[in-house]
Amino acid sequence: MGESPAAIGAVSMAMDHRGICLRPALLAFFRANGMRLFDRGTETEDPVDYPFYAQRVAEDICCGISNFGVLVCGTGTGMAMAANRFRTIRAAVALSEEMAELSRRHGNANVLCLGSLWQSAEKIWPILHKFFFTAFEGGRHCRRLELMDKLGDVAMNWLERVDPEIFSLTALERKRQEDHIELIASENFASQAVIDATGSVLTNKYAEGYPGRRYYGGCEIVDKVERIARERALQLFGAEHVNVQPHSGSQANGAVYGAVLKPGDKILTMALGDGGHLTHGHPKNFSGALYSVYHYGTDSESRRIDYDGMEKIAARERPKLITVGASAYARAIDFERVAEIGHGNGALVLADMAHIAGLVAAGLHPSPIGCCDFVTSTTHKTLRGPRGGVIFCKKKFASAIDASVFPGQQGGPLMHIIAAKAVCFLEAIQPQFRSYQLQVLKNAKALAKSLADHGFHLVSGGTDNHLVLIDLRKNLPQMDGLTAQMLLDRANISLNRNVVPDETRSPFSGSGLRLGSPAVTTRSMGEREMEQIGQMIWEVLTAEEAADTMESVRGRVRDLCRRFPLPYANTP
Ligand code: PLP
Repeated sequence: MGESPAAIGAVSMAMDHRGICLRPALLAFFRANGMRLFDRGTETEDPVDYPFYAQRVAEDICCGISNFGVLVCGTGTGMAMAANRFRTIRAAVALSEEMAELSRRHGNANVLCLGSLWQSAEKIWPILHKFFFTAFEGGRHCRRLELMDKLGDVAMNWLERVDPEIFSLTALERKRQEDHIELIASENFASQAVIDATGSVLTNKYAEGYPGRRYYGGCEIVDKVERIARERALQLFGAEHVNVQPHSGSQANGAVYGAVLKPGDKILTMALGDGGHLTHGHPKNFSGALYSVYHYGTDSESRRIDYDGMEKIAARERPKLITVGASAYARAIDFERVAEIGHGNGALVLADMAHIAGLVAAGLHPSPIGCCDFVTSTTHKTLRGPRGGVIFCKKKFASAIDASVFPGQQGGPLMHIIAAKAVCFLEAIQPQFRSYQLQVLKNAKALAKSLADHGFHLVSGGTDNHLVLIDLRKNLPQMDGLTAQMLLDRANISLNRNVVPDETRSPFSGSGLRLGSPAVTTRSMGEREMEQIGQMIWEVLTAEEAADTMESVRGRVRDLCRRFPLPYANTP
């Protein structure tokens, strides 16, 4: 039984300078058979290192861009050895038609390696033909291939050897992430490079203090890491001073409060119900317990921040600090206006850009840096780095902020996370990061439009950033946020319930749903997929034949997830 060109799907091809003589014959074969080809070079006889070319093809297959690959070097074996380092690659050297046929029939090979020393242009056509038009036999060979993968994993993976329970939970979580449409607005998929840094030996190092002023020996290398992270953060955001040590966004906010406030001081912040964060003075958070909290909110019609109301409270109460920034606010924030209000009324201003930092870095949301005294952020949301926090401030506050982080809030910094932050800042400096953020915005708008077209009521009527907030009370008054979240979870669509302005339910159930586009955009989904996702959410929440709908939506989610794989090759 053979494979048709359509079943074969896309093929990636690469060769080194020794393989170039077979290039015309290969191109002619793919053309003659109507096969979709990704040509990964090389195109000249200048000497190159073949492992890089094997890597290009292997990564295409690992990421789902291609189903098959062809690699050519002098012997074929170098390419095969390099390609077989990658998980899911089964590269086989085939010097004859029989070898090609059996590598497919028994070994389910997905990469054919050819050697220009032994094979001429005339001889490779029948070999290519056998390779591409022979199907895998399955049966007993499945067991053997599974065993091969398993042994390979064990050889590579210490976590599986030492702690199979945690390994299998990690693998299950990876699978969950792979099989779900992730719409949690504060989540994203960090790059393989970021994940590698978080899993590095830097986790072993204690380094209390700051570069050049540590309380431990042996810090000369981690000093360099932290300095690089700082330099890149400053380059990215253009601030005067940065502290890259906060373990989280909450600790970053705590450190700013600790630097400039005393217990009992007045702070003016946005309440949770209008989109603020717990650390913005919620009674159950340290910020609500320690400080005297006043709240501004959103306009009851437009649901945009009520800057006039903020100004009135600031003039009346003369708070020491105004905090602006949000967890569930879909509109652009006028940081300059807030800075004017604060400074005009004797207050310092903290902008918490945790959610929108990626958009700010890409120049797609006005930056609070420069006009606000302190800017905090997480590094794991739109910024797409490791879980962590960061603080920017003017030079005059640098030593107060640094002292408030260490020793004020934390002991040893997490050097592996600081390294991953450095990687994240480097990635965010690249031009493709701006393209990604542009797509995040387009996708959020497309998702908002699809949801609104289906009849959902959106708080503030739409979005200027990466998130959308639905108020279920208008269209589905019987359904609370928790129920909706659980129903969508069953359809493999993840999002979170949220409180909405003028909330009438408990925060545990909530009347809102918060959705975001950062994670699905990292998977390369676009506006068309957002339209489909809006449709599926509507179907799940309004279904009359619940079981049938759930089955149909789960199938469509599965298809989408298969078409848009996670950006990982080797991460367990
Ligand atoms: N600030 C805002 C606006 C947030 O949305 C969040 C988290 O969701 C935080 C701070 C806190 O971040 P972390 O969860 O890292 O403590």
